[in-house]
Amino acid sequence: MEQGKPHVPREVEEAIATLIRWAGDDPTREGLLDTPRRVARAWRECCSGYAEDPAHHLSRQFEEVGGYDEIVLLKDIPFQSHCEHHMAPIIGKAAIAYLPREKVVGISKLARVLHAYARRLQIQERLTSEVAQCIWDNLRPHGVAVVIEAQHGCMTGRGVRTPGVGMVTSRMMGTFLDDNRTRKEVLGLMGY
Ligand SMILES: [Zn+2]
Repeated sequence: MEQGKPHVPREVEEAIATLIRWAGDDPTREGLLDTPRRVARAWRECCSGYAEDPAHHLSRQFEEVGGYDEIVLLKDIPFQSHCEHHMAPIIGKAAIAYLPREKVVGISKLARVLHAYARRLQIQERLTSEVAQCIWDNLRPHGVAVVIEAQHGCMTGRGVRTPGVGMVTSRMMGTFLDDNRTRKEVLGLMGY
């Protein structure tokens, strides 16, 4: 085993070599010799979210907020995921906001929750609602708003080939869902 790198089982290597053959190339030629192992390790990393409990990132909460009771927003969070239908990349950015009730979390934790769900085979709609639900369940805030904007490799690189087309999904919960003014405020802060 190469040092520090995860072991790749024989059948996984074989599966990728089979794909290369299926694509029309020869997996035994020099340039492709190590490709199955590299691809396997890359996929391991792309799907590392399966080994994570996203809620764990929200377990450290702070009550000392100095009287702050307004929207907390983290925006333009870049992420990469893979669509479950084609295993093609989904590349985009997310905006995650919540209106704290009493507790807040370190701001980077919101991005960690996003990545824990993104590093799985996904559809954008589910990714959006899973992130929102996780914050809702664990922080019990007054409201949660998640907006995700992404490009899908399965659309831009193959099939209908429409580069530049982005998909936007959003999930609003609590006050952001019920109260028009608050929703407008958060969407404004997010730049929509
Ligand atoms: Zn797809």
